[in-house]
Amino acid sequence: MNDVSEIIEALYRGDGGALSADDIASFLDECESGGYDEVLAERARNVREPIYGNRVFVRGLIEISNICKNDCLYCGIRRSNRNCIRYRLDEDTIILCADEGYELGFRTFVLQGGEDAYYTDDVMCPIISRIKSSHPDCAVTLSLGERSRDSYRRMREAGADRYLLRHETANPDHYAQLHPASMSYENRIQCLYTLRELGYQVGCGFMVGSPYQTNRRIANDLCFIRDFYPDMCGVGPFVPHHETPFASFPSGTVEKTCRLLSIIRLLCPHVLLPATTALGTIHPRGREMGILAGANVVMPNLSPVGVRKQYELYDNKICTGEESAQCRDCLELRIRSVGGEIVTDRGDVKK
Ligand code: SF4
Repeated sequence: MNDVSEIIEALYRGDGGALSADDIASFLDECESGGYDEVLAERARNVREPIYGNRVFVRGLIEISNICKNDCLYCGIRRSNRNCIRYRLDEDTIILCADEGYELGFRTFVLQGGEDAYYTDDVMCPIISRIKSSHPDCAVTLSLGERSRDSYRRMREAGADRYLLRHETANPDHYAQLHPASMSYENRIQCLYTLRELGYQVGCGFMVGSPYQTNRRIANDLCFIRDFYPDMCGVGPFVPHHETPFASFPSGTVEKTCRLLSIIRLLCPHVLLPATTALGTIHPRGREMGILAGANVVMPNLSPVGVRKQYELYDNKICTGEESAQCRDCLELRIRSVGGEIVTDRGDVKK
């Protein structure tokens, strides 16, 4: 199958499973010439509509620590960045952020941080249980990187509902170009399967336009996502950080990110798909464009304003100066401007 319109129709019919990585790679090549993004976005919205309607789910993001033992080459808080001012939030501060978020209407809290050894299971489990017991109608999502099966199990038993762990690339050679030799592609993928086995709703994802990415490699990502069928999928543009080895690489584009959001919506109709802050960073209406392309999640920041600038994964990250309430109001207006409706429930995946 190699005609572009034929592939779009196959995706729309739900026949994306029949596409080979070669089909997808040539399709992505053809799409570069332009002219297909509108129809892809329209098809993606049509597929999203009967499942989620125009509902857009908000997740309150609490960035608990910018300390990380790893040295991913694309990341502004990598261990080697000596100019990063480090912080970590203690248990009471995290709970306060969640309480404030609850008052503002959030029903999912995402605790995200680098791989910081301070947050052992003995530290994390009470935090998770406190949030769950104060707010039993809320979901707790973790995004704390690679941990052992036992650690994932303990945090799940403490009440964690979801786990985000971007796979970054489904191509082992590409993985090795983005990460230090101490990190392994096999372990990253194994973590995703372990999390699923333990009953988490699981999110994977990758950056669009990362260094050394090709359409062939993106085709591998799309096949992986189609076959793994995550509950959530974080796909945003690569944005360089000036203190990393990738400082001089160009950012990913809004067009390609939105195109891929549409394709992922067609491949996995039920997936919860964020319009990321990185997309809003490279274009003033990036998040709105993401919603129009098929996304249905936004993740405003609930971290204390004093530390937001320090959680700088990439340059010029937006929404680092605003209060949580301002973030939420601003996003609500943005979502409404493209016909979406912000909803305040847990927003579980509908599979
Ligand atoms: S991407 Fe994650 S694991 Fe890698 S250096 Fe950054 S915070 Fe650490």
